[in-house]
Amino acid sequence: MANVTLRNVRKTYTGGFEAIKGVNVDVADGQFCVLVGPSGCGKSTLLRMVAGLETVTGGEIDIGGRVVNQVEPADRDIAMVFQNYALYPHMSVYNNMAYGLRNRGMAEAEIKTRVEEAARVLELSAMLERKPRQLSGGQRQRVAMGRAIVRQPKVFLFDEPLSNLDAKLRISMRVEIRKLQRRLNVTSIYVTHDQLEAMTLADILVVMNGGQVEQVGNPLAIYEKPATTFVASFIGAPPMNLMSTRADEIKSQLGGSATDAGIVGIRPEDFAITDQTPAGGVALPLTVEAIERVGAETFVYGSRQHEDQRVAATPGELPPGEIIVRIPGTEAPAIGARIRVAAVRQK
Ligand code: ATP
Repeated sequence: MANVTLRNVRKTYTGGFEAIKGVNVDVADGQFCVLVGPSGCGKSTLLRMVAGLETVTGGEIDIGGRVVNQVEPADRDIAMVFQNYALYPHMSVYNNMAYGLRNRGMAEAEIKTRVEEAARVLELSAMLERKPRQLSGGQRQRVAMGRAIVRQPKVFLFDEPLSNLDAKLRISMRVEIRKLQRRLNVTSIYVTHDQLEAMTLADILVVMNGGQVEQVGNPLAIYEKPATTFVASFIGAPPMNLMSTRADEIKSQLGGSATDAGIVGIRPEDFAITDQTPAGGVALPLTVEAIERVGAETFVYGSRQHEDQRVAATPGELPPGEIIVRIPGTEAPAIGARIRVAAVRQK
């Protein structure tokens, strides 16, 4: 086990493109760290630098108290699980898992013990003689995990390991990975562009954008108090409603979490439809544009109306835009209805 520390890590690719612009992250021993951000933000680059698959242009990567910038991937005591699993198609499940250990010259008896234990944990014991093509996507993914587990590394690195699975399998594998990581208690760094996966897996969430870290912390703390408008709109689905705070009453009376100067954010679940203005508060008038019923809850998409003096007439106010409101159950106003919504939770 080991902690992983990135100190002012930079990466400039040949040709001059600066993909990582000084990243600082501290992952404690046994923690599950998730790097999340939109396509091209540099998360894979950062992970590959930790793995030793990319050179580091500047700064330091420290694994277990040792700076590894110049250490070969094989000597870093890490194991990586890739998006495409990278299994050998002609080898059995057993041999896929055993391969890396044999390469290191480990005795067959020890290899057998490790592979069988990993197979038991991953519920692959009955499939050890099969070839990858005889497995489902989820089973292949588990073999890829098994190959990492048998090495008993100090750190697991995951590069979008679930992105080739269908939605249902993604969710069940997500839960499996988290259970497994808790049980093995191995420091892990996991890359995904899926904010829900990131929220549910992470002990420590690193939100990246444009080669930089926007915010690091506990996922729920980031959800509650996003530090920037980027984080506010990236974490949470549907996204947080962002409004200008030039109308001071919105900030003081509607509540919401302040992000960048002048912007207040209110999550869809923190609005409720009301027929009266709350005491001492304001209610935003909306025209219902669309309704999404997803079962246990419904999302109401409304446009803000110009005629509301308290909101739209303030100089500097954002143009009337869309507001998303989450309501429980399936009963919803009709499209075109004029409603009022108020913040139901003060932050
Ligand atoms: P995705 O989710 O799409 O995989 P990512 O966040 O993992 O994206 P990276 O793959 O780390 O992003 O790429 C970060 C940036 O670096 C991108 O703009 C990409 O085009 C650029 N990049 C990646 N590899 C190279 C390379 N070998 N040479 C030059 N630029 C590169």
